[in-house]
Amino acid sequence: MAGVYFHIPFCKRICAYCDFYRSAELQYIDSAVEAMHSELEEQAEYLNDKDIRTIYFGGGTPSLLQPTELQHFIEHSAELFDCNNVGEITVEANPDDISAEYVKSLRKTAVNRVSLGVQSFDDDELRFMNRRHTAEEAVAAVKRLQDSGIENITIDLIFGVDGFGDEVLERSIDKALSLGVQHISAYHLTIEPSTTFYRRVQRGQMREVAEECSEREYLLIEKRLCEAGYEHYEVSNYALKGYRSQHNSSYWSGAEYLGIGAGAHSFNGAGRHWSVQSLTEYIQQREYESEVLTAKDHYNEYVMTSLRRCEGIDLRVIESRFGQQKLKTVMAAAQRWIASGDLVADGHNLRIPTSRFMLSDAVIESFFDV
Ligand code: SF4
Repeated sequence: MAGVYFHIPFCKRICAYCDFYRSAELQYIDSAVEAMHSELEEQAEYLNDKDIRTIYFGGGTPSLLQPTELQHFIEHSAELFDCNNVGEITVEANPDDISAEYVKSLRKTAVNRVSLGVQSFDDDELRFMNRRHTAEEAVAAVKRLQDSGIENITIDLIFGVDGFGDEVLERSIDKALSLGVQHISAYHLTIEPSTTFYRRVQRGQMREVAEECSEREYLLIEKRLCEAGYEHYEVSNYALKGYRSQHNSSYWSGAEYLGIGAGAHSFNGAGRHWSVQSLTEYIQQREYESEVLTAKDHYNEYVMTSLRRCEGIDLRVIESRFGQQKLKTVMAAAQRWIASGDLVADGHNLRIPTSRFMLSDAVIESFFDV
């Protein structure tokens, strides 16, 4: 069981908070797509004949590609891998790319899930973040997709933005809920070096929000979405029943994946590799960096990805994968957190209550093997 990820690193406009690997040099799109097909062939053995369950087009802005180009990648994957059991094919899209024509063409492909980078339903906040769509365009995009019969739509929201308080956030939540999408991802804004926001903070033109504000907004989102029937299944992710992201869930449960595109990461169970983050180099000749994961890395990754999900650590997995001694260490480390209420012992599992996910770093780090 494995996934394929296609990284489309192009963006028409760079958002003020973004530090992902992306490029505004749209003149490279065609040659990058060609190079990605070559890379798919070159890496066909990487997953050792595992059957593919999910395909994900992420970015950047995958909706800058025509749906026919997405379908070409899907068909090429099916020539190289066993794709008979693929259940979820997601494309990330910018709302203003979702024209009636685009949706019509998208419906002719095998894509069955769309992830819209909405971020906010407040126009001032969208401008502040340098997003290239308006709130109205985001609403229209969701409706157009729904009217076309796409039944699995997720939207991204950002909270913790200086100058846009609870009321603005609450209105965005109201709008998101009124649209009846199946999945919502809510991310706290982080101000990363090399972003416009970082430079604004350096110049004293904006601030990172206070911790109390972050926590309040986080709890507001959780309360509103859970009351509306969404399950808070991972720190930043909420889903209606049956609509968890299969692709991301497989990453978090240690499944293998092949990443195609400049800077995309791949994991084959034993280690990772990733191509250089340079479009021109990627197009000419792909070179990879790699790391082999040690037993300690596997354990730390398991702890981190498990404690960020509502199920938490499965103690049976700790014992079977990492041994009895490790199980004893985990149980000993857990006691003080159970006493403080930061961890709950639930049958075979140790989990962080979802209301405390936001403050979970100290808990998670205390389990790491260093
Ligand atoms: S669209 Fe996404 S990848 Fe592109 S600049 Fe904005 S946040 Fe970054």
